[in-house]
Amino acid sequence: MPELPEVETIRCDLYPRVCGRTITAVRITPDKVPLIDGASPAAFARRLKGRRIEGLSRRGKYLILHLSGDLHLIVHLRMTGSLLHRDAAAPAERYLRAVLSLDDGTELRFADLRKLGRLRLVADPEEIVGRLGPEPLEAAFTAAALKRAIGKRRAPIKAVLLDQRALAGLGNIYADEALFAARIHPQRPADNLSEAENRRLHRSIRRVLRDALENRGASFRDYVDGGGREGRHQFHVKVFRRTGRACYVCGATIERIRLSGRGTHFCPRCQPQEGN
Ligand SMILES: [Zn+2]
Repeated sequence: MPELPEVETIRCDLYPRVCGRTITAVRITPDKVPLIDGASPAAFARRLKGRRIEGLSRRGKYLILHLSGDLHLIVHLRMTGSLLHRDAAAPAERYLRAVLSLDDGTELRFADLRKLGRLRLVADPEEIVGRLGPEPLEAAFTAAALKRAIGKRRAPIKAVLLDQRALAGLGNIYADEALFAARIHPQRPADNLSEAENRRLHRSIRRVLRDALENRGASFRDYVDGGGREGRHQFHVKVFRRTGRACYVCGATIERIRLSGRGTHFCPRCQPQEGN
């Protein structure tokens, strides 16, 4: 569920609180479902302890903690993961899976109801994030870059927007919202968009993500920011989870279809199948 705006909000919250701190202890909650990729919990804890957090960046939906000694902790929140900064004395979260104690008496806590989130320690983050497509909010992401990323794919545009190797950071909420803003039907083949539609989609993706960032992300279910607070963008969506309600633009009824296994919301009048 957390997509680019949610993960970036968490990054901005945590950055001033954890950068420069040293990890003094690591606790992993024992569980049948693995949390750590590529190492045992004990080895993971041993490698983390004593390292200083030197930076915190984001790539797509991944958070990357840059640690002293050229090691990087990659956090993938997936469906319901959250990364919280708390005082050590604060009550434990439900579904707590890992706690990193910091040298100022605070903790970085990873909680996850569905247990799909993963942590991984790597020497080179490119191992994990190197396969991702372009970052849609970077200056280098032009309309031409969007066309290069998606324009040769025959799959429905919605499915291509969800593919992190094509474009990084979009998930179900912002793919639906961007296609509505661009007036493009989600089932249109990606390689079939006109120049004008490609330009509209490029503008819409960036605007939708920036608006969501300003609203500190969308909390439809479990998402909370780095301090445990909900975002506000769920009150500003135009089609996502508005099935059966009136389109704000034209008054037609918002519809929902399944597309690549995901619920997909759109306005049949603003986003006609034959294009506009
Ligand atoms: Zn409409």
